[in-house]
Amino acid sequence: MRMIGLIGGMSFESSAVYYRLINEAMRNELGGLASAEIVMRSVNFAEIVSYQKAGRWDLAEKALGDAAAALERAGADCVLICTNTMHLIADAVAARVKIPLIHIVDETAEAIKAAGFKRPLLLATRYTMEHGFYTERMRSLGLNPMVPEADNRQTVHNVIFDELCCGSVKDESRAAYLAIIDKAKAAGADCIILGCTEICLLLNPDELALPGFDSTTIHCQSAVNFALSEPALRKIA
Ligand code: GLU
Repeated sequence: MRMIGLIGGMSFESSAVYYRLINEAMRNELGGLASAEIVMRSVNFAEIVSYQKAGRWDLAEKALGDAAAALERAGADCVLICTNTMHLIADAVAARVKIPLIHIVDETAEAIKAAGFKRPLLLATRYTMEHGFYTERMRSLGLNPMVPEADNRQTVHNVIFDELCCGSVKDESRAAYLAIIDKAKAAGADCIILGCTEICLLLNPDELALPGFDSTTIHCQSAVNFALSEPALRKIA
């Protein structure tokens, strides 16, 4: 199999989910005691968040670009940025390596289109919901995403950074998210994107008022599909 390279730590709560889901998906594919060949570079999230807050995406490009280059040197055959938000600088990171970057927006869009949906509600950090890199890319891929209104975007964002990234999962925050989903359903959304890699800690995508697409699960399955794809497929007995 090909080796999966992960840029993790953003936050480590979701990187732990990546590690588990990738290995579970690999075991599902190959059976027995199979697990994935993975190399991870885990960054200091506090440093990355300081760049986000200061709008210093150039410094983030350097940090994550260095991480991608380190993964390539370590033998990775692909690279995943294990956060939606930092796909804001995905092109710059991809430019630092020769191995492919498996893009979380593209993979999520493909999953939504394959299921026949068109108008997803995006739940994510404010950077992801407001900077355009995510919704514009989805539009170019044939979807028509919507985002919550401003005060609801702030709520979704605060829950991610103040709770989920700190390992705290609260019933009242789940209720707040579900209310936002109800509102979007009434406004015409036909599905929900769990567009932050920690939201799967709060919501079960299969138990929402609309079909849910979890970016973490989709990204992990894409990595496993890549690792097992030809020509490097090496099935373990
Ligand atoms: N993991 C989150 C995401 O998927 C947020 C953390 C970050 O700012 O990178 O967007």
